[in-house]
Amino acid sequence: MPTSRLKNCNVILSKRAFILAASAGLLTMSMPACAQAPAGKLKVVASFSILADITRQIAGERADVTSLVGANSDAHVYRATPQDAKTLKEADLIVVNGLGFEGFMPRLIKSSGSKAPIITATTGIKTLEKKKAGGHDHGHGHDHGKVDPHAWQSVEAVKVFTSNIEKGLIARDSANAAVYRANADTYRAKLDGLKVEIENLISAIPSEKRIIVTNHDAFGYFAREFGIRFESVQGISTEGEPSAKDIARVITIAKDKKARAVFVENMADPRIGAQLAKETGAKLGGALFSDALSDEKGPAPSYIALMKHNARALTEALKD
Ligand code: ZN
Repeated sequence: MPTSRLKNCNVILSKRAFILAASAGLLTMSMPACAQAPAGKLKVVASFSILADITRQIAGERADVTSLVGANSDAHVYRATPQDAKTLKEADLIVVNGLGFEGFMPRLIKSSGSKAPIITATTGIKTLEKKKAGGHDHGHGHDHGKVDPHAWQSVEAVKVFTSNIEKGLIARDSANAAVYRANADTYRAKLDGLKVEIENLISAIPSEKRIIVTNHDAFGYFAREFGIRFESVQGISTEGEPSAKDIARVITIAKDKKARAVFVENMADPRIGAQLAKETGAKLGGALFSDALSDEKGPAPSYIALMKHNARALTEALKD
């Protein structure tokens, strides 16, 4: 067996695997141990589906990436399972959004006993203050913080996510640094292309027509980056049903501003959108994907597909 192969194998073994190998007396015959070591693949756990996809783009073949909150599921109200704690305990690396998005994560990570490094994808992004939804708090009586966590709705922010994840992977697995750098470069180029594509779609709509009503305030970053106005029913979180008063408020806004389209997200009760459309006379657009991917067969199985789908659905509804 050539030396270079041996060197690679040793680098790939994590400290824990190394100790196991030593105690099992495998070190003297490290070749067979290496040959069957898919230990070469990192176990990376991301908190939700969009972040898992972005992480996969950068990790490529070097990692198995798991998402705790799955497709079409809502991280705002997620309840962790015993399996999640086990998954975290076995992780080599954890990726979270941060900015208070995954309220369930800090306690879950602690109780799992995981010692894995944590990458906070939003570190260093240009954050956005939460919009005060009509100056009320939807009756929860508690505050989720001042910053809007839905940063992935900005392509520029996801370029920062990409660099943070790239650095985290390299720190954990420096032997494959060149692979992570190359994957991250490729992905950043795709993100640049995505941004231009969305800009082109939206620039075709006159700016005074770019008003949309949605059921939860997840599109602040998209609005800032691409110049669309969103008015929402629920405010930032999806906790709790929107009240009759919330819906009445949005109907008033939609009528006042002559909103041209009403959307509901993939995680929401479709009846809300139907009611809004009926009462405002605005067009009911297709589903927008805010906080979760669709499944593989759906229209948004990846982050890039999600952003393209949303941009097309929005511009489709806004043009006449
Ligand atoms: Zn959300």
